[in-house]
Amino acid sequence: MNTILMGPPGAGKGTQADRLKKEFKIPHISTGDMFREAVEQKTELGLEAKKFMDSGQLVPDQITIGIVAERLAQADCSKGFLLDGFPRTTVQAEALDEVMTKIGKVIKVVINIDVPKSILLERIAGRVSCSKCKAIFNLATLAEDSNKICGTCGGELIQRSDDQGDTIVKRLNVYDEQTNPLLDYYHKKGLLKNIDGNRDSEVIYSEIKAILE
Ligand code: ADP
Ligand code: ZN
Repeated sequence: MNTILMGPPGAGKGTQADRLKKEFKIPHISTGDMFREAVEQKTELGLEAKKFMDSGQLVPDQITIGIVAERLAQADCSKGFLLDGFPRTTVQAEALDEVMTKIGKVIKVVINIDVPKSILLERIAGRVSCSKCKAIFNLATLAEDSNKICGTCGGELIQRSDDQGDTIVKRLNVYDEQTNPLLDYYHKKGLLKNIDGNRDSEVIYSEIKAILE
């Protein structure tokens, strides 16, 4: 059950991971979430990561690999884990292989959620999340009378600072250049499963669940 969720920004990795972690009772390890938490808490890592995130760039490999290696060694990962947003470069993928060998584990499957770029732009521009429970919503499907309040916990719905303006386009380009080549990397290892992410999230969820079962 050691799984990697791949896909461009806005593909729906976070939404799917949120349900999968509950279904399979495994930790959801999102490097984006880890960095955002560090930024919120103004730790040294957060201050460093923020510089890159705000401009749509990747946080340097050394830093990212370090926090993931530390996280994967924790006890709750022993029955499996769901990696989301990592690896994002070839250097990270090779480092992950090394970490896995060191802790005596293997990646079982890499799920790629595929969505056309025109749709990604639309989705990211409308994406908001709850400042309290972190649930993800889209303005396009939120009720008009929601007043940007989370239906689950009443928290305020906010837009990520990197989900605005030019940064969105920058992130999609970074994905094409640095992350997309990883699909080939995992295809060659026989681990890649492609999922059409331009469908109802319920349908996508059942498909991923079936693969993991
Ligand atoms: P999305 O998938 O929507 O782009 P994430 O939450 O996964 O969002 O990532 C947000 C930002 O955090 C990225 O734009 C990048 O700056 C940083 N980040 C996340 N994961 C990585 C990673 N594996 N390597 C480098 N930077 C990362
Ligand atoms: Zn909430």
